[in-house]
Amino acid sequence: MSKNNSGDKPRSKLIIASNNAGKIREFRELLSPFGFEVLSMKDAGFDREIVEDGETFEENAHIKAKAVYEALRLPTIADDSGLEIDFLGGSPGVYSARYAGENASDKERCAKVLEEMHGVAKELRDARFVCSIYFIFDDENEYSVRGEVCGYIGDEPVGKNGFGYDPIFMLDEDESMATISESEKNKISHRAKAFERLSDILKEKFS
Ligand code: IMP
Repeated sequence: MSKNNSGDKPRSKLIIASNNAGKIREFRELLSPFGFEVLSMKDAGFDREIVEDGETFEENAHIKAKAVYEALRLPTIADDSGLEIDFLGGSPGVYSARYAGENASDKERCAKVLEEMHGVAKELRDARFVCSIYFIFDDENEYSVRGEVCGYIGDEPVGKNGFGYDPIFMLDEDESMATISESEKNKISHRAKAFERLSDILKEKFS
């Protein structure tokens, strides 16, 4: 335990089962009202590779949270996210990060999806970004939350913001997830919605 800014109250450690600096930053901000000392798994001394072989976002988030919780026995949060396209039977889904091969770029992943969706009518192009967050507080208390944002796959990349599949994910005829600003995206995204649900649980249990 470490001390908080006010000097004397000990803070419980909470691990984010990720080493992605952007994710840790977002979670640290979300968790700031709850007085945890937020650490990445590497900072907490966990450097094993976790095999994410679940069939759903929920399973993968659970696998990550459980691996880190069982090694460190500290409250742990993990997330998993990706893109689901109805016409492709839910693909790329849990394979979103490696859809065009392990070392492919975001641009190559978008190109692969556009090729697979080539010529498909607009009404069959529905898609959603999904984010699942799994929180293990202790042996008795585990929580799973999900956030989604709906859109459709465009005919070509639009916009320069965001990352991943954002340029091909249309919110309406004029806007893709990559034309809106980061702060706008953080209000409507799948991650923002899952965060909100996690935040509701944390408020109820820990404030
Ligand atoms: P992970 O949850 O960090 O494993 O992300 C999985 C993959 O889903 C990423 O590598 C992206 O390709 C995709 N993805 C997840 N969230 C977003 C998003 O907000 N925009 C675009 N692509 C995303």
